[in-house]
Amino acid sequence: MRKIIPIIFLCLILCGCRSVERKKTIYAMDTVMDLTVYSENDEAIAAAEAEIHRIDELLGRSGENSEIRILNEKKEAVVSDETEELIKEAVSVSQKTDGAFDITTAPVTDLWGFYDGNFRVPSQNEIDAALESIGYEKIHIGQNKISIPENTMIDVGGIGKGYASDRVMDILKSNGVKSAIISLGGNVCTLGKRPDGRLWNVGICDPADKNRLIGTVQAENMAVITSGGYQRYFERDGVTYHHIIDPKTGRSAQNALSSVTVIDENGTLSDGLSTALFVKGLDGALEFWREDGGFDAVFVTSDGKIFVTEGIAQSFKSEREYEVCTR
Ligand code: AMP
Ligand code: MG
Repeated sequence: MRKIIPIIFLCLILCGCRSVERKKTIYAMDTVMDLTVYSENDEAIAAAEAEIHRIDELLGRSGENSEIRILNEKKEAVVSDETEELIKEAVSVSQKTDGAFDITTAPVTDLWGFYDGNFRVPSQNEIDAALESIGYEKIHIGQNKISIPENTMIDVGGIGKGYASDRVMDILKSNGVKSAIISLGGNVCTLGKRPDGRLWNVGICDPADKNRLIGTVQAENMAVITSGGYQRYFERDGVTYHHIIDPKTGRSAQNALSSVTVIDENGTLSDGLSTALFVKGLDGALEFWREDGGFDAVFVTSDGKIFVTEGIAQSFKSEREYEVCTR
């Protein structure tokens, strides 16, 4: 018995030091999020969860302490360095994508009911009036002070989950985590490799059937972020209207794309770009990728065709046919 007790102690100590799988499902930023973290204790995953809620509170449109809410209400606000940096990043994505991405589309998205869920088809006059107040170039960024015109509103929903995934990765790394995968409403971010040393396989949803995958992409330290009309939409009189708005028309972007997945180390950029490239459509998106792209992407068209950029041709796996796009 005297020998057994130290052995039990040793086992407990060794087990306590081993990284084991820790999972958590949370609801934040209007979506379900799944966190899987391999760590020695619960601290890292708890810190990741707290970080997501902090960002949600800071950047959401309705949070009591949200700097975005205060800015939208007061039209001028002193914001934190963090909020200022994210707005600058969003404006830079707008500039790069000729305004396909625009964090001031809120007056239009609200008109269609995508914010409060009261879906409706607005009149052309209403759309034209709302279009007057949108335009990223209307955002004035001073030293921590942001101002916007009277009817303009900011919504970082098109970039916020990617930003949150980057911050979560930083938090996990600073907690010593070497292996993790998080899915923030289908926007996936991977840290390191799987605990068995293999790469992560990230599934890409079939826009025609959310319960199926069109394929998987292997990833290590990468964000895999998808924008798709199938993620939030309503139907009226046989027409489907979805939540990704073309800032030039004030209507759901209609260009024969069903989804765009961007794969890159930078989750914030991937999120902004996936929304922008969805607005641009396949030809515009491929042109952008050829000129600008340090990233990779998977495109699914409305008629079910799959296009994959050459950088991930080897790591993309699908039972369906797909075309590899070259530069
Ligand atoms: P995502 O799922 O990242 O493509 O973002 C879609 C969300 O971003 C929408 O629910 C809107 O809140 C917002 N949004 C819609 N259209 C745009 C756009 N063209 N640029 C930036 N944000 C947009
Ligand atoms: Mg996005």
